[in-house]
Amino acid sequence: MCKHYTFTTPIRSTQTFNMYHSTNNTHLLLYPCPGYGHVIPSLELAHHLLRRGLTITVIISAADLPLIDPLLSSYPCSLHRLLFSYPKVHPSPQPLIAKILSTQQLFDPIVKWFKSHPSPPVAIVSDFFLGWTSDLASHLGIKRVMFSTSGALGSSIFHALWRDMPDINKQNNDKDENFYISFPEIPNAPKFPWWHLPPASRCFKNGDQDFEAFRTTILANMRSWGIVYNTFEGLEGVYIDHIKKQMGHDRVWAIGPLLPDEHGPMNSARNGSSAVPPHDLLMWLDSKPVDSVVYICFGSRATLSEKQMCALLGALKLSNINFIFSVKASDSSSMILSGFEDDMVARQGFVVKGWAPQLAILKHRAVGSYLTHCGWNSILEGIAAGVMMLAWPMGADQFANATLLVDQLGAGKQVCEGGPELVPDVNELARLLDESLNGDLRERSKVKELSEGAMKAVKEGTSIRDLDLFVKLVSEL
Ligand code: UDP
Repeated sequence: MCKHYTFTTPIRSTQTFNMYHSTNNTHLLLYPCPGYGHVIPSLELAHHLLRRGLTITVIISAADLPLIDPLLSSYPCSLHRLLFSYPKVHPSPQPLIAKILSTQQLFDPIVKWFKSHPSPPVAIVSDFFLGWTSDLASHLGIKRVMFSTSGALGSSIFHALWRDMPDINKQNNDKDENFYISFPEIPNAPKFPWWHLPPASRCFKNGDQDFEAFRTTILANMRSWGIVYNTFEGLEGVYIDHIKKQMGHDRVWAIGPLLPDEHGPMNSARNGSSAVPPHDLLMWLDSKPVDSVVYICFGSRATLSEKQMCALLGALKLSNINFIFSVKASDSSSMILSGFEDDMVARQGFVVKGWAPQLAILKHRAVGSYLTHCGWNSILEGIAAGVMMLAWPMGADQFANATLLVDQLGAGKQVCEGGPELVPDVNELARLLDESLNGDLRERSKVKELSEGAMKAVKEGTSIRDLDLFVKLVSEL
């Protein structure tokens, strides 16, 4: 028989607020999109809900199972995983779209599971890529809540883009890379050149079955009963208000940044898979002065081309600064890194080939700046740590995130942008890297200010208010 779960983490001052606690064992089905950038924040969300007394079943792929294990062992009675065999993806020139559409094959298996469950979920909380779950929820007679792993600006643009894609596509019939798409209805009227769009939208074909099906699933997000954002009001309040207007109601909750408690189960989940012993890395950092190291990481998927890698290593050598570089084990350009290893890398750097314990690195006092691809989780983690960011957006929502960070918030500087063919100037990059640690920059004080805002939001401010409100409302369903 299940023992009642006791929260063993030492109660720190950050946990002393009176959080709303559900008393009726409300059950939610959580469905993250596969992939670390989606599963990590979804499991953080699960952790917050479990702490508030909810029961959660998570649909998870076999590849992402290691991420959930620490949480499962902490909540053996109230957290359950639902593992389906991976849906077949049909060969397509648009692999992302094919992958997302393939998830619809789980519609019937989920219905079957739901109908045989003694106390089925009252709502499904699912990733923004899984808009079709709005129809699934209607079929089951329950609510659907969209969970956005992108920020509110990135998600507003994504929605408007796919809504208007047939028209935009007609306007830019000859696919001019420098054709500007503007979004006047979104606050601050963002605009982007065509080449900033993800490949899937650039190749959009009016009337194509897959594109139309994908567009339908994305547009279904706006029919959700509610939306949960991993962001906070002080960062994106204006965009949250915009989404509320679009939805026509206020069930839009900004509950981020979703980050693990220092001693909680999710902290070890992120650090547990580190490719190097975290202790070695932290010892290396301990030996460095305050704010003297730049951390370099391009998220869980992005890699550099050989030319980009050469430029970055050249700039690191020229600037002579200390660095930690997280390089994908599969990255072919990491061969170039080996050529630098004996000399410059050994003197100035610490290279992690594989998964780096990013949160621990960012929080270390020796880390003064962060060269990032601007994935949304990475931006939030940099802000929470109060580390000045150098932006190198490469695709997806990263251009929107960089616009928010650099142009709107003034909390970072842009160093490069775009795909593998766009290479930064070595001298200029060296200057920016050096300046990010040694310059008297207003971006540094701005990011510290945002960091304080983020901490306040999750301890006693707007994020905790929204999270409690969300739990209260789903508990009443
Ligand atoms: N991450 C990490 N170590 C690494 C690379 C990535 O811990 O070596 C984590 C990072 O902390 C973040 C996530 O992976 O939580 C990446 O998500 P993000 O949205 O920034 O980018 P994506 O990988 O989705 O492009």
